[in-house]
Amino acid sequence: MTAKLRNLNQLSIHFIKVRVALQPFLFDTMKMFSQIQEVRCYVSQLKMSGKKIGFVPTMGALHHGHLKLVEQSVAENDVTISSIFVNPTQFNNPVDLMNYPRDLSADKSLLQSAGCDAIFAPEVSELYKNPSSTTMSYGLLESTMEGRFRPGHFQGVGVIVAKLFNIISPDRAYFGKKDLQQLTIIKALTCDLNFNVEIIPVETVREPDGLAMSSRNRLLNNEERAIAVTLYKTLLSATASLRKGDSPAEVKEASWRSLQGQKGIIPEYFEIVNTQTLEPVGDKVGDQKVSICVAAQVGKVRLIDNMSVY
Ligand code: AMP
Repeated sequence: MTAKLRNLNQLSIHFIKVRVALQPFLFDTMKMFSQIQEVRCYVSQLKMSGKKIGFVPTMGALHHGHLKLVEQSVAENDVTISSIFVNPTQFNNPVDLMNYPRDLSADKSLLQSAGCDAIFAPEVSELYKNPSSTTMSYGLLESTMEGRFRPGHFQGVGVIVAKLFNIISPDRAYFGKKDLQQLTIIKALTCDLNFNVEIIPVETVREPDGLAMSSRNRLLNNEERAIAVTLYKTLLSATASLRKGDSPAEVKEASWRSLQGQKGIIPEYFEIVNTQTLEPVGDKVGDQKVSICVAAQVGKVRLIDNMSVY
């Protein structure tokens, strides 16, 4: 992360903290919806008055990474709607679903302070009146990396994003590059199904030491939190090696060995891929855009991160 980018991130975080502190003195203008019909009605009024809608889907337990998406949407659209929904169908592990952090009241304050206009936070029964029978398949985009460790995950992601796009009908939707594979699949889904939505990728926001912000970070104890930054450091060092001209195979091997040697980390994958197709990069990098993606268990917490090389 460049010093300039880090300063901008810190500035934006500071700005939001000030707005949170001032919140009790501000009027509560943000709308809350839990019913599909209510939010549809709100959206259709906005559309009739020609307003552009920006949409930020989240699973809540918000942090400044999420808020960066919201701030960008606020800057680029007339109205910003954010959803908060822990989507059960994208969890292949019931314990992970149960332990996923939830904090609706803190989320509301943060969204309000970031300038969000409305929240859509439905119950599971509202979105899944019947168990979903739609399946979506994305070939390699789905089967690689996360797909190897979270079978069915992107089925769940695809269906919930399609549902939310149909309910909110946004002009633009904001997704973090932190979840590169998810972003790639959502771009494909949007194009395949002709959703009239522009997908806007947003850079990853990191903690001052480089750890990618994640709702799951709050599940780390102090020792695990200290270890977790290793993922970022490994990405950084692999990126430097690739830029220097080392072969992807060597870099992958060295990074994998280094992660395996770290106490407290169980690496799941470390892949050097084409940023658009997610295909593994062979020894000829050529002029392709390349990203490095990593997933690991740190204690009981599963973390993912990635870095674009060029
Ligand atoms: P989640 O609540 O984890 O489903 O994330 C909601 C959105 O926030 C997704 O588009 C994520 O990619 C994005 N996001 C999560 N963490 C970050 C981060 N550290 N920086 C930027 N975007 C993020």
